[in-house]
Amino acid sequence: NSDLILYVNLELVNKKSDRRYIVEEMLGQGTFGQVAKCWDAETNSYVAVKVIKNQPAFYQQAIMEVSLLSMLNDKFDPDDQHHIVRMLDFFPWKNHLCITFEMLGHNLYELLKKNNLRGLQLQFVRTFSRQILDALIVMKGAGIIHCDLKPENILITPKVNSAAGVKVIDFGSACMEGKTIYSYIQSRYYRSPEVLLGYPYTTAIDMWSFGCIVAELYIGLPLFPGASEYDVLSRMIEMVGGQPPDDLLREAKNTRKFFKHAGSIYPGNEAHDGLRSSYRILTEDEVEARDSKKPKIGKWYFPRGRLDRLIFSYPWKNLNEGNLPGFISSIHNW
Ligand code: ATP
Ligand code: MG
Ligand code: MG
Repeated sequence: NSDLILYVNLELVNKKSDRRYIVEEMLGQGTFGQVAKCWDAETNSYVAVKVIKNQPAFYQQAIMEVSLLSMLNDKFDPDDQHHIVRMLDFFPWKNHLCITFEMLGHNLYELLKKNNLRGLQLQFVRTFSRQILDALIVMKGAGIIHCDLKPENILITPKVNSAAGVKVIDFGSACMEGKTIYSYIQSRYYRSPEVLLGYPYTTAIDMWSFGCIVAELYIGLPLFPGASEYDVLSRMIEMVGGQPPDDLLREAKNTRKFFKHAGSIYPGNEAHDGLRSSYRILTEDEVEARDSKKPKIGKWYFPRGRLDRLIFSYPWKNLNEGNLPGFISSIHNW
């Protein structure tokens, strides 16, 4: 939407005063709109203003972002202790909904890139993980599912007493537990098995994404950089060494996208608990025959040294319980 780009060097105007927010630079663009660094002439401070695209679907979702985030801020984290971004205000501007946030620093993807994708020091992995978990605990208590946890949506906080810190942002895809309307959620690399398979989901899907993020902070590259959903699921099964159990696959809506029912008990195909399974994952040829195009398959390209220090195990049966920090049981010397 080209007229959005013209915001640079123009003023955003809100109802309270004529020239309150002066745009200094663009911080990021997403599906929902653009985020600008602005000088707030009323409070004499910098703020981040998210300008939502002026289409009804985006507007509705932005209203959700405003209401869930204000509930989290005011009711569940009144003293700003739990690493969740603060929303400051929201207002309409020329048919766009604008949301103002406290100004934060780079996102974790940018940080990893600056570090040439070699991963962060364990000390930072540990600190950031603890803080993200703190935010997730509060969200679970509030019954809010973020639905888009990924490095781009975790920002470095400006240094206070030079202690490193992060905050979770972007509640633009969030929803209430028990009121899950959408089935196509989460960014692909961080998409949980529940969502891939089309199984009812809970706040535990954020915990899956969290596990992916912790691994990525440590090794520097995404853990499941799948070029398609099929690719992501195949990588998960390969990495944890077993597939979801039959009862789960029987109930999930998307099982047939990825698996073939291969007789009552298919020999030679082990589910995670070592039992034989009735399902086997489709081969690339079968996916191609069905979709009449080659399935997109990416490559593994990990720095092996660091990857070998992660220990993976995932109790497929405990989908939805969210009782683990994702699926990573430990990093040596954690
Ligand atoms: P997505 O495509 O992930 O849904 P989005 O359109 O919902 O994105 P946000 O994730 O809220 O938008 O913001 C986009 C980017 O803008 C972020 O990844 C971040 O780099 C930057 N950004 C957002 N909020 C802030 C903030 N408070 N301070 C500094 N930068 C921010
Ligand atoms: Mg985002
Ligand atoms: Mg978003």
